[in-house]
Amino acid sequence: MDPRVQQFMAMIKAKNPGENEFHQAVQEVAESLIPFIEENPKYKHAKILERIAEPERTIIFRVPWLDDKGEVQINRGFRIEMNSAIGPYKGGLRLHPTVNLGILKFLAFEQVFKNSLTTLPMGGGKGGSDFDPKGKSDNEVMRFCQSFMSELFRHIGADTDVPAGDIGVGGREIGFLFGQYKRLKNEFTGVLTGKGIEWGGSLIRPEATGYGATYFAEEMLATRGESLKGKTVCISGSGNVAQFAAEKVTELGGKVVTASDSNGFIYDPKGIDSDKLNFIMELKNVKRGRIKEYADKYGVEYFEGKRPWIIKCDIAMPCATQNEINEEEAKLLVKNGCICVSEGSNMPSTIEAVNVFLNAQILYGPGKAANAGGVATSGLEMTQNSMRLPWSREEVDEKLHTIMKNIHKTCVKYGKKENGFINYVDGANIGGFVKVANAMIAQGVV
Ligand code: NDP
Repeated sequence: MDPRVQQFMAMIKAKNPGENEFHQAVQEVAESLIPFIEENPKYKHAKILERIAEPERTIIFRVPWLDDKGEVQINRGFRIEMNSAIGPYKGGLRLHPTVNLGILKFLAFEQVFKNSLTTLPMGGGKGGSDFDPKGKSDNEVMRFCQSFMSELFRHIGADTDVPAGDIGVGGREIGFLFGQYKRLKNEFTGVLTGKGIEWGGSLIRPEATGYGATYFAEEMLATRGESLKGKTVCISGSGNVAQFAAEKVTELGGKVVTASDSNGFIYDPKGIDSDKLNFIMELKNVKRGRIKEYADKYGVEYFEGKRPWIIKCDIAMPCATQNEINEEEAKLLVKNGCICVSEGSNMPSTIEAVNVFLNAQILYGPGKAANAGGVATSGLEMTQNSMRLPWSREEVDEKLHTIMKNIHKTCVKYGKKENGFINYVDGANIGGFVKVANAMIAQGVV
C-alpha cells in the first residue's frame, strides 16, 4: 500500500475503531484520491479528505415498538448526515439485522461521491435500523416505522435531509414512514423519495437502480464494441435492484441465469424470462417467500448457502449486499470469461476482488457509479415534488438514461489511463470528489 494511504488509514482506523466496512470504503477512495490530491495541493491544504471522511452529524436513537403479541421490542435507529456541501443530505434507509454504525457510515460516505456524480444538487446521507422486517406482519412493520419516524422527523425535511429506500425498505415502508411524518409535521412535502405514484412518487423510481446499472453496463461494453445482446448474465439478489436489472438486461437481449437471496441461489440455464421474473416479483414483493421456491416451480437447480459467481457468465451484476464477491470468486469469474462487472449493490466486491478485476483489465463499474441511477431518479422525484408536476414514464427514463451516460463520461474523463484502459474506480472517486471538494473550499472551514 502507498505509505501516504497507509498513514491516512491509520488515522481513520484509530478514530473509528471496529468499523470495518467504513475503513474499506474510505481506503478504496483514498487510494484513488491521495495521488490526485498531491497533484492538486489546494485540496490538501484545506484538508478536504480528512473532512469528507468525518460525518457532519450522526444521530442514534431508540426505537421502541409493540409486536403483535403486545410485547415491547427495542431497536436502534440511525441517520448519518455525511455531507451537505452540494445539497440536502440524501440517501436511503436500510432495515436489516446486520445494520450498525460502521455499515451506515460506509454507505453514507459512498453516497457523497455517488450523488455528486449524478450532477444533481444532493449531499450524502444514510440511515436505518437493526430491525429485521422478515417474518413481521404488516402491522408490526407499520408500528416500527411509526416509532422510527417519531424521532427521525425532527432531523429531516425537504430542504434538509431526504431519505429513501434501501435493503428492507420498499414502497410499503416508505408509505408508513411518510404517513407518520405528515401526521407529526402537518406538511405534505417531498421529505422522502420512493413514494407511491398517487402521493408524490416518480414513475421509474422503483426501476431506476436496476435499469441504471444495466445502462451503465451497456456504456462500458460499448467502449469495447460490445453490447448486452446475446450475453449470459449472473445477477445476485432478488429484491428491488436485482428484479429491475433482470428486466432491463432481458429487454436489451441478454440472458439472466441466476437470482439469489440470503439463503442461496437458483441457476436457470434457459434464462429468467419475463413470466419467470413476474413469479419472482410476486414471490418477493407480495408473498415475501424464499428464492428456493423458484427452483421448486421451474425444476431448476438450487444452491443452498452459495453465491452465483461459480456459474460461467459474460457479465456479473451483484445486486444484493456488500462484500458479496471475494477474491477467489473474482478470480473464478475472470477465469470463466467474465468481461464486465456492473455493481447494482453498494461495495459488493472486497478490495482484493476489485484488484483482481483491475489487474485483469476487465470492464469494472463500481457501485457508486453503476448504481447511481436510483438516487438520480430520487433527485428527479424531488424536482417534481418542488414543481408539484409529475413527468411521464418516458421523460423520467430518458433523463435517467442521459444521467447514466454522463456518469460514464465523467468516469472516462478521470479514469482513462495512458494505455487506454478505463479505471472506473479512479474515475468515479475523482469525478465525484471534485465538485464536493470545490464546494467545501468555497464555503470555508465549516
Ligand atoms: P432489497 O431489500 O429489495 O433486496 C435485497 C436482496 O439482497 C434480497 O434478495 C436479499 O435477500 C439479498 N440480501 C440482503 N442482505 C443479504 C446478505 N447479507 N447476504 C445475501 N443476500 C442478501 O434491497 P435493494 O434491492 O434495494 O438493495 C440491494 C443493494 O442495492 C444494496 O446493496 C443497496 O444498498 C443497493 N442499492 C439500492 C438502491 C435502491 O434504489 N434500492 C440504490 C443504490 C444501491 P433476503 O431477502 O434473503 O434478505
